[in-house]
Amino acid sequence: MEQKDLISKINNLKKEKNAIVLAHTYQNLEIDEIADFSGDSLYLSRQAAKTDADVIVFAGVYFMAETAKILSPQKKVLLPSLSAGCDMADKINLLQLRDFKSKYPDIPVVCYVNSAAEVKSESDICCTSANAVNVVKSLNSPKVLFVPDKNLGSYVESQLDGVEVITYPGYCPIHHNITVGDIKRQKILHPDAGIMIHPECTKEVTALADFVGSTTAIIKAVKESSLKKFIIVTEKGVVDRLRRDCQDKEFVLINDNAVCKSMKLFHLEDIYRSLLNNEYEVNVDETIAQKARFAINRMINVNAN
Ligand code: SF4
Repeated sequence: MEQKDLISKINNLKKEKNAIVLAHTYQNLEIDEIADFSGDSLYLSRQAAKTDADVIVFAGVYFMAETAKILSPQKKVLLPSLSAGCDMADKINLLQLRDFKSKYPDIPVVCYVNSAAEVKSESDICCTSANAVNVVKSLNSPKVLFVPDKNLGSYVESQLDGVEVITYPGYCPIHHNITVGDIKRQKILHPDAGIMIHPECTKEVTALADFVGSTTAIIKAVKESSLKKFIIVTEKGVVDRLRRDCQDKEFVLINDNAVCKSMKLFHLEDIYRSLLNNEYEVNVDETIAQKARFAINRMINVNAN
């Protein structure tokens, strides 16, 4: 089927089923053609919470669909493939969280949204890479536990005076495997480029940044900058969108491995099949969802203030 026919069939199905499509910034670019909302996980969480749609198709990974279901329990949430997992989220489960907490009793737990519902449910508050510093600050605690991303946790600590961030040893392989050597090599090749780095990278890498921020913050900073060239140190989807939206500027992806395979699983055919057959519905046990919802809403309220 030609792309334009597929897009029109998807749009008809969306109308018929009162459905919306949420697309993460790391998705294949073609998904933006039919997405109602595209952006980072905080933005998409908010859209999931306030939509009037009956069906949400999440073009992202499993924990994102779970988060949408937690925030909109009465809606049908679909993920086009149950293989779309997240290596970072898989690094901690409920038992591992309990074990970590037992070593540091009475310290609040901040949970990056890139985690399973059951991990969120036993955390005090969630955060995204966009609001992690503000979330930790809002707790007014001299110590916090931070799961699962040790790199984001240590970045948060570097941004706050007098707060010890005790991190769980998880990480995103896509960001964690980017090295200081990668940055130095690209900087030699492109000395006039701004270096824009996601805080899921190691602290040795973020120390070399001109700008550190979430995907949305990086895109905004690029658009507002007078520079004409940027080295983008995060997942390839950000570069794809910048090349589409800022054609007067030049973008270099840090290396060819900065590609999240789970985020590239979906094409327009998958969204169509998902809508047509209601595949695959994501559900969260209501007892877990209630506790996870509290931690997510607490985060959303911090950001709204
Ligand atoms: S880029 Fe990393 S954190 Fe994001 S979905 Fe992929 S594995 Fe998970």
